[in-house]
Amino acid sequence: MSELRLYNTASRSVEPFTLPEGVPAVRLYCCGPTVYHFAHIGNLRTYVFEDVLRRGLEYFGFAVKHVVNITDVGHLTSDEDEGEDKMEKGAARTGKTVWEVADFYTQAFMKDIALLNILNPSVWCKATDHIQEQVDLVQTLESKEYTYRTSDGIYFDSAKFKRYADFARLDIDSLQEGARVDKGEKHNITDFALWKFSPVETRRAMEWPSPWGVGFPGWHIECSAMAMKHLGQTLDIHCGGTDHVRIHHTNEIAQSECATGKPFARFWMHGEFLRMGESAKMSKSSGEFLTLDVLIRDGFHPMEYRLMALTSHYRNYLNFSYDALENARESLKALRKKTDPLIGQGGSIGSTKAKEWQAKFREAIGDDLNTSKALGILNLMLKDTLQDYEKSALVRDFDSVLGLGLDTPLTVVREAASVDAAKVEALLVERKEARASKDFKTSDRIRDELAAMNVVIKDGPQGTTWEVKNGK
Ligand code: AMP
Ligand code: ZN
Repeated sequence: MSELRLYNTASRSVEPFTLPEGVPAVRLYCCGPTVYHFAHIGNLRTYVFEDVLRRGLEYFGFAVKHVVNITDVGHLTSDEDEGEDKMEKGAARTGKTVWEVADFYTQAFMKDIALLNILNPSVWCKATDHIQEQVDLVQTLESKEYTYRTSDGIYFDSAKFKRYADFARLDIDSLQEGARVDKGEKHNITDFALWKFSPVETRRAMEWPSPWGVGFPGWHIECSAMAMKHLGQTLDIHCGGTDHVRIHHTNEIAQSECATGKPFARFWMHGEFLRMGESAKMSKSSGEFLTLDVLIRDGFHPMEYRLMALTSHYRNYLNFSYDALENARESLKALRKKTDPLIGQGGSIGSTKAKEWQAKFREAIGDDLNTSKALGILNLMLKDTLQDYEKSALVRDFDSVLGLGLDTPLTVVREAASVDAAKVEALLVERKEARASKDFKTSDRIRDELAAMNVVIKDGPQGTTWEVKNGK
């Protein structure tokens, strides 16, 4: 039987993936969304890749403990600890508090991933729920003398971690050279904030006490602290988009390995970017980007976007265009024409021929998650002269990795997709105002209106949350 081989950014090579003796489940950590805005379809491409990875691991018989964080602390708009606070920027843009912003975009994110048939991780963890763990980790680094203090925070001294440049193959001398002017009080250009102090004259919307004074954690520390809390000091796989290699993951490795003296992750996997047109990167902070909601309003189905993402290898750039999405739509239509009549047929993979198809599919997925090859195998298998019940079983088997929802009629997802998150949010604001002025007639009318949109609301101590009931 073919083995699972995965590309490891750390070694820059494809390696067989196995678990060390005595580790019962793959310890998988994926960097999650920063919830100050909607996820764009580029972000979502990375989550589709990570979902295929998780499903692929399970297909190869591994149990997986999958942890994804929610970055709800207000970090700064650049990776280099500069710029505006992202959450406060989101609050100013929407007229909400930072906590409401975080809740709203977390929910919008959950809806997006459900629509894309991305499996929920075993653990979702929020940065704001793990402040103490982050403080503890900074204290460990401080006690081992890896930190220093400037006027605005506690910094990690990257020169003290000799392997700092190795992971991203950085040329530190030329980085230092280029940045002589901008490094401010930092000792080295690659040093980064572990804890930032709140400004003395203003109160920040999100701030916490710490041994160094009131402030907030640096961005990188949250992933190390939460990954170690939920998965232990060494992970089997750590994932994110390629933009994270140079700064975020390099810094995670430095602070984690200095704190524990152990390797932080055995495999590092990175999804390449989705690009608009020829070269433009999609960027959340630039404010101009496409969301899943926009694609849905333009008449596309989330599964058409998922299929588009699967047609390219996760380590290649994927250029987004509506033409490419149209092509994915046609491909999905052609595929479903063959698979729809097989839905609910039952069946098993018994004959030698059926097993050969399964082996081919397994080999494609085992080849560093070659989803485009796997899709080709699915299409060829459907043309072969197998019994329908065998085809049905193979479709279900393959789709446990592809996640195209081929065992569900497409319309079910379309209903859930038709909910306009901005409209729901506007109605909730109206309802909150009605309830504040004890206008219960209006608030009930709004609840009914939301129910008619398949939106279920729940009032709790943290405010109102909502979800789409998709009729399943
Ligand atoms: P963020 O919410 O900005 O922290 O990003 C969430 C995830 O999306 C991270 O893993 C990023 O590396 C990834 N990402 C950001 N931009 C893109 C893009 N254009 N294409 C693919 N992945 C991206
Ligand atoms: Zn991270």
